[in-house]
Formats: sequence, C-alpha cells, structure tokens
Amino acid sequence: MIKNKFLLTALLAGSFYMAHAQNAKPEDTEVWEPVPVKVTPGVTDFKSAPSDAVILFDGKNLDQWVMTEDRNKAANWFVKDNILTVNKASGNIETKKAFNNYQLHIEWRIPANISGTGQGRGNSGLFLASIGKGDAGYELQIVDSYDNKTYVNGMAGSIYKQFIPLANPARKPGEWQSYDVVWTAPVFNEDGSVKSPARVTVFFNGVLVQNNTTLLGPTQYIGKPSYSVKHGASPIKLQAHGDKSEPISFRNIWVREIQ
Ligand code: MG
Repeated sequence: MIKNKFLLTALLAGSFYMAHAQNAKPEDTEVWEPVPVKVTPGVTDFKSAPSDAVILFDGKNLDQWVMTEDRNKAANWFVKDNILTVNKASGNIETKKAFNNYQLHIEWRIPANISGTGQGRGNSGLFLASIGKGDAGYELQIVDSYDNKTYVNGMAGSIYKQFIPLANPARKPGEWQSYDVVWTAPVFNEDGSVKSPARVTVFFNGVLVQNNTTLLGPTQYIGKPSYSVKHGASPIKLQAHGDKSEPISFRNIWVREIQ
C-alpha cells in the first residue's frame, strides 16, 4: 500500500514536471533588471596580434573557418576590404581548429544603418566553445546595446541567458568594438558529470564585464542550462542570427592557447 502510494506520488510528480517542461517559454529565463550602468569606454584601437597567437581572421580569407552545419564546407561569409560580414542566409561558421583554454581578441561592428529592436537589432554571437550544430555551445552575446532595450541577460557582454554584464560600455552603431576573452573550458569526468565548470572573463571595449564567471552549462534558449553534454576541445563559433536587421561585421580575430 505504502509502496503504491509512493509510486503514485512519483508518477504525479513526473507528469507535473513533464507538463511544466512542455509549457516552458523563452520569456521564463529573461532577466530585465538591474540594468548595467552605462560606461563610456576609453580609446581601444585596433589591437594587433602577439607573435604566438593563432590568427583566425586577418582580413584576407576564411581559411581557418568552416560551416557549422557541414564542417566539410568552406565558410562562405563575405570578406571585403579586410572585413568579415555575416552571411545570414548561410548559417553559423566555426573554426577548423578545436581549443581548450585560451585568450581571444575579436572586433565587431554593428552597421551604422542598423534597424530593428531588442534581440532583433544586430544580433550575432561568439560561441566560446561550439559543441554541435546550430547554436549549441556557450554564447557570449553580440547585439546592439548602445540604445536598445532588451533583457539584460541578453545584451552585449552577457553570457546569454545566464549572466548580465557588470557594465554597459557599448559604442554607437557604426563604430568598432572589441571583446577580449579569457576562456577556461569545462572538464568532464569519465561518466559525463562535470569535474570543473567553464569560467570566463570578458573585457568589452576594455571594460571588465565578466569577472571569472562560472557558467551553468551551455546556452539554453528555453529552460535552465546544465552540463548535459560531455565534450573536449571545441571550435570557436560565430552566429548568423535569424533576425531581419542588417548583418554585422568582424575583423582582427586571434587567439592564444593557454596550457
Ligand atoms: Mg546571439
């Protein structure tokens, strides 16, 4: 009798959980405040690569990149005038090479004529580790955050839907901006459980916005993140977001591997 009661309770709890999971919405994990304080960044000019860096994009070609959906295909975003521009029709791109821990520099620019609002205004993203097709991985958000209200755990400098930035040093659309990232990859036990979670430090236009932040798992658009996928060294990925706004551009991408 007691055993049956227990079973019934477990079944009810299980069905409640299933119903709850099925009703989960993207809005459930949006955070709207506190709004990070605006900071006017100092001058952060083009930062050329140190001698031991792996150059991921120097303005010439996409030799270091492939399409995320088919890693046998060459990356087909647009390279012109030493700048890389997202090809929204083609999908995400990622590096041929896989990385564990690293220091990374990347510069990005929201076009001056950007249109749209919220998440639909210059959305892209830097996936610090790509762990599969589409948007699978750990996303440092890229979006226009100069004068564009959205949920604060989805603004530029956020670890998307996990951690809001410590400040908002975004520049105007049309101006080049930079991320300098220190990424410590997660380590997994043999059984797939997490041994040590991922950590990240991010400087946005030279301003600290993530300070050795411990990630909860790969990015989840709906629901709570967790370390459900065991993985090793991973490519670095750039997002071709499906919003209707004008495509953003990148330049000067390099990485230094940390042992
Ligand atoms: Mg994004």
